[in-house]
Amino acid sequence: THDIHIIGGGLAGSEAAWQLAEAGFSVKLSEMRGSGEMTPAHQTDGLAELVCSNSFRSDDATSNAVGLLHAEMRALGSLILREGDVHKVPAGSALAVDRDGFSAGVTAALAAHPNVTIVRERVDALPDGLAIIATGPLTAPGLASSIGAATGAEALAFFDAIAPIVHFDSIDMETAWFQSRWNKGEGKDYINCALDKEQYLAFHAGLIAGEKTEFKEWEKDTPYFEGCMPIEVAAERGLDTLRFGPMKPVGLDDPRTGRWPHAVVQLRQDNAQGTLWNIVGFQTKLKHAEQIRLFRTIPGLENAEFARLGGLHRNTFIRSPELLDTTLRLKSRPNIRFAGQITGCEGYVESAAIGLLAGRFAAAELAGTVLAPPPVETALGALLHHITGAAVAETYQPMNVNFGLMPPIEGRTKKADRKKMYTDRARAALKGWMAA
Ligand code: FAD
Repeated sequence: THDIHIIGGGLAGSEAAWQLAEAGFSVKLSEMRGSGEMTPAHQTDGLAELVCSNSFRSDDATSNAVGLLHAEMRALGSLILREGDVHKVPAGSALAVDRDGFSAGVTAALAAHPNVTIVRERVDALPDGLAIIATGPLTAPGLASSIGAATGAEALAFFDAIAPIVHFDSIDMETAWFQSRWNKGEGKDYINCALDKEQYLAFHAGLIAGEKTEFKEWEKDTPYFEGCMPIEVAAERGLDTLRFGPMKPVGLDDPRTGRWPHAVVQLRQDNAQGTLWNIVGFQTKLKHAEQIRLFRTIPGLENAEFARLGGLHRNTFIRSPELLDTTLRLKSRPNIRFAGQITGCEGYVESAAIGLLAGRFAAAELAGTVLAPPPVETALGALLHHITGAAVAETYQPMNVNFGLMPPIEGRTKKADRKKMYTDRARAALKGWMAA
C-alpha cells in the first residue's frame, strides 16, 4: 500500500512523484510505456520523455515569464529543472536539453528513491484512493472515458506538432552558417539557411501544394492551438506570414552578403553530441516523402538526412476552470487531483510546474495541513490561477505561462521596465509564500 497513486510518468507525474517522495510519502507511479503500450508521440520507455522540441524555452528569470517559472521551480527543488540543468545543451538564453540524457536522469532519480515504486502498467479507471492523474495530452482511451464519466464534461481536443530533425553531417555548412539572432548566446546555437525571394516563393508554393496526411476521423473538427500551428497552415494565411514567424530573417546576417536574407530557416541543436538538429517551427502535416522533397529545396539542406520527420497529433485536456478546485482537486471527487497538460496548461515546463504544485498540495493534505496556492504575482501562482478559475471555462484553451496571467503592475511605468517589475514582484511574493 502507498500513500498516493500517480498515474502517468511524464513531465508532470515525474515531478509530482518527486515532490511527494521528498516530502516523505510513499508513491506508486504507474506508467503504461514499458508495458507494451505507447502513445502516438512517445518513442521510448523513459520517464519524462520530451516528445517534440528539446527546449524548455527562455531561462531568463528577469524578463521572461517561463524563465521566471524555471527559477521558482528550482527554488522548490524541482527534479525536472535539476535534470534539465544537468543535461543542458547550448541554446543561447534558452534552456535546451539532451533529451535522452534528461529522460534517463529523471528515470534514474525516481527509480533510486526509496519512497517511489514505478509500475509499468496502463490504468483504465480513476482510482478510489488519493491519486494524481498526469496522463497528458495523449491519455489512453480507457482512462479518458473514465475521466469523461467522472467530470460529466466533454474532454476537449486540439492539435500539437512535431518538428523534423536533421543529421548534422548531412547539412552543407558551406551554405548554412552558425549564428544566434542578434548574436545572442554562444554563436553556435543555431544553424541558419538563407532563402532569397525566388527560393522563398517556390518554397511557399510547395507548402501549399504539397500533399498532406489526412486527419483521422477522431481528429477532425478540432481547432489548432496557435503556438504549434503546422507550417503549411501558417503559409496559407498569407505570402509573408512565415517571414514574420518561423522563417523570420531579422537579426541574421548571411555571411555571403553581410545582410539579412529574404527568409531564413533555423535549426537548433537537439542532442548533447550536436549530431541532431531540429528545424525550428516546422511542425507539419505534409506527407513524409513530400517533406523530404520540399525541405531539400532549402539551401544547405539539399542532402539533408532526417532522423525524424514532422508530425501532428491530437491533444486532450479537461475544462479545468469549472472542474478543479484551487488545489487541483476534482470538485466532484476530491480524492483525485489532475496535473500537467491534461489540466490545460501548455508546454513541458508548465506541465512539470503543475505537477510540482499537485505533488505539494497532496503532500500537505497527507500531512493533515492545507497548503495555500502560491500568490498570483508568482509565475506558479499565475499559471495555477488561470487553470483553476481565472480562465473562462467555455472558451478554455491551453496556455503557456506569460505575464498577462499576472495582475497588472499598478501605476504608470515605462514599458521597458515592466517585465523586470513583474519578476521583482514575483520573487518577493514567492519568498513570502515559502516563508509562510
Ligand atoms: P506526458 O509527458 O505526455 O506524460 C503522460 C504520461 O502518461 C505518458 O508517459 C503516457 O505514456 C502516460 N499515460 C497515458 N495514459 C496512461 C494510462 N491510462 N495509464 C498509465 N499511463 C498513461 N511542449 C513543449 O513545451 N514543447 C514542445 O515542443 C511540445 N511538443 C509537443 C508535441 C506533441 C505531439 C504533443 C502531444 C505535445 C507537445 N507539447 C510540447 C506539449 C506538452 O508540453 C507535452 O505533451 C508534455 O509532455 C506534457 O506533460 P505531461 O506530463 O502532462 O504529459
